[in-house]
Amino acid sequence: MRLNGKVAIITGGASGIGLATVKKFLDEGAKVVVADINRANAEKVVADLDAAGFKGSSSAFAVDVSVFTEVEALVAHAVEVFGKLDVIFNNAGIAGGKPLLDHDPAVDYEPMIRIDQDGVYYGILAAGRQFRDQGTGGVIISTSSIYGEQAAELAFTYSAAKAAVISFTRSAAYELAEYGIRAVAITPGRVGTAIINQFSDELKETFASEQLRGVMTQPEEIANVVAFLASDESNVINGTVVHVDDGYSVFKKRLD
Ligand code: NAD
Repeated sequence: MRLNGKVAIITGGASGIGLATVKKFLDEGAKVVVADINRANAEKVVADLDAAGFKGSSSAFAVDVSVFTEVEALVAHAVEVFGKLDVIFNNAGIAGGKPLLDHDPAVDYEPMIRIDQDGVYYGILAAGRQFRDQGTGGVIISTSSIYGEQAAELAFTYSAAKAAVISFTRSAAYELAEYGIRAVAITPGRVGTAIINQFSDELKETFASEQLRGVMTQPEEIANVVAFLASDESNVINGTVVHVDDGYSVFKKRLD
C-alpha cells in the first residue's frame, strides 16, 4: 500500500497504460480520478472497479487534455471528490504520422501537438498550482516515448511532442522544487495497447524483437514503475527520464 492516502489523476485512464496504472494505484491504496476523452469508457472503468471491491475509490471525469479550462476543471473535480491532489499522471496521447513532405499542418501537426504536447503542459500547470496552493508538494509524471529522444519513421510530430514532454519535465522539476513538487518523465518502448494493436502482426513482431527480452511490454509492467515513481520511495528521482523500454534506447539487440 505504497500510495495509501494519496489522490491521483490519471489522464488516458480508460485504456492501455493509463488503465493499468489506475488499477495499480488502487491496489496500492490511492484514490484515482480516471480522466479520459472517452466518457463512456472512463465510466465503465469506474463501474467495474466499484464492482471489484474498490467502491468509492475512483471517479470518472471526461476531459479533452488539449483544452486548458477542461484540465483546470479536472483538477477541481479531484479536489471536490477526494479533498486534495497528490499526483498527476499526464499520460493521454495519440500516435501515428505521415512522411514529413506529405503533411497538411492542420491535420498532421496541430492536433497531435495540442494533445501530446499542450495537454501535458496544461496538466503540469493546473496540477502544479493546486500542489502549491495546498502546500503539500506533489508528483508530476508524464508519458514521453522512446521517440522523444530519437528520430523515427513516420513520427515527425510525435517525436517533437514527446521531446517537449521531457523538456517540460526538466523545467518543471527545476521551477517547482521550492514547493516540494517532483516531476519525472517515462519513455515506454513497445507496449501492447490499442496504439500498437492497430499495426499488422508482422510489424508487432518486429517491434517486440527490438526490445532485449524480445517480447511486447505489457501495460501492467509500466504501471508498476509509475506507482513507484508516484510513491515517496522514489523521492530522489526528479527532473529526469525513466526509460521503461526494455533496453530499446540503450542497446541494439543482438540478432543471432
Ligand atoms: P491507448 O490508446 O490504449 O490509451 C490512450 C488513452 O488516451 C485512450 O483512452 C484515449 O481515449 C485517451 N485520449 C486520447 N486523446 C485524449 C485527449 N485529447 N484527452 C483525454 N484523453 C485522451 O494507448 P497507450 O499506449 O496506453 O498510450 C498512453 C500513452 O503512452 C500515450 O501518451 C502514448 O503516446 C504513450 N506511449 C505508448 C507506447 C506504446 O507502445 N503503446 C509507447 C510509447 C509511448
